[in-house]
Amino acid sequence: ATMPPLLSAMANAGRHGVLVKSAVVMERLGQVDAVALDKTGTLTEGTPRLTDVRPLAGSGLDADELLGLAAAAEHPSEHPLARAVVEAARTRGLAPAGSADDFVSTPGQGVTAFVRGRAVAVGNPARLLAGASGHEAAEATAVAAELETEGRTAVVVTVDGRAAGVLAVADRQRPDAAGAVAALTRLTGAAPVLITGDNPRAAARLADQVGIADVRAGLLPQDKVATVRELEGAGRRVLVVGDGVNDAPALAAAHTGIAMGRAGSDLALETADAVIVRDELAAIPTAITLSRHARRLVV
Ligand code: ADP
Ligand code: MG
Repeated sequence: ATMPPLLSAMANAGRHGVLVKSAVVMERLGQVDAVALDKTGTLTEGTPRLTDVRPLAGSGLDADELLGLAAAAEHPSEHPLARAVVEAARTRGLAPAGSADDFVSTPGQGVTAFVRGRAVAVGNPARLLAGASGHEAAEATAVAAELETEGRTAVVVTVDGRAAGVLAVADRQRPDAAGAVAALTRLTGAAPVLITGDNPRAAARLADQVGIADVRAGLLPQDKVATVRELEGAGRRVLVVGDGVNDAPALAAAHTGIAMGRAGSDLALETADAVIVRDELAAIPTAITLSRHARRLVV
C-alpha cells in the first residue's frame, strides 16, 4: 500500500531531523507565512562562555568570590547563561560558595536564592536594577552597557539587594542560522522577527549577522506572545522557533511552534508542535517545503 502523503511527509521530515508530532501539524506547517525566532539557544548555539567577571569596587568581593556566589545561586537553573556561570566557576576550581536555598527562577529575568544566608540575585541588568538607586546601581548599569556594546550578554549580581558586580557571557551563532533565515524569508515572503529576552545591543548585533531586520529585545515570555498576536493581527500565520521555558507561551500561542531538541528545555519540547532533533535550523525550511508538497497531493 502507498502511505498517505501527510504520513509520508512526516516520515520524510523525520529523516531530515524534524520530529512532527501529528499529521495535522504536518499539514499546518506549510501554511505559515511569518516567522518569529528566539535568539539564545535558537539562532545561537546556546552554550555561552563566561567572558567577564567584574566585581564593583565597593562590593568587598573579589572576582572569585563574586563568581562563586553567582554560581551557587545559578546552580539549580537550566538556563544556558546559568550553565556558563557554573561551568566557569568549576573550571577555575572554585569551591561552591554554598547551596541555593529558596531558589526562584523567573523566565526572561534571572534567579534569586539564599547562599549562606545572603540574598543573591543574578539576572537581566535592566530588570534587576529597575528602580534601584545609589552609586552601585549606576556603576553596574555602566559596566553592563559597556560589555553589551561588545555584543556580550551582561548579567548583574546583587547581594542583599545591592549591586555587587557584573558578569558577561558570549555565544556563537549557529553555522546555518543565516542560511535558514534566508530560506524562511523566501518561503514565507515575510521578514523574520527576532524575539529575545536579551539586551537590545547584543540582539541587534546577532540580528545583523544572520540577516534579520525586525528585532524585539528585552521581552518577557508574555511579550513574546504579544508579538505573535501582533503578527496574527496583521493576518499572518506565525511560526515560532524557540528553546527556552521563556518561549513556551509563544510556542503555544503560535500557529505552529517548533522547539530545539538538543538545547531545548523540557517545557519547550512538550509545548511545541514539532521538534528539530539535531538543532539544525536548515531542517525547518525543509519541513515547510515537505508540508507544501504533501498538501498539494492531498487536495
Ligand atoms: P532569550 O529570549 O534570548 O532566549 P531569555 O529570555 O532566556 O533569553 O533570557 C533573557 C534575559 O534574562 C537574559 O539575557 C538574562 O539577562 C536574564 N536571565 C534569564 N535567565 C537567567 C539566569 N538563569 N541567570 C541570569 N540571567 C538570566
Ligand atoms: Mg532561548
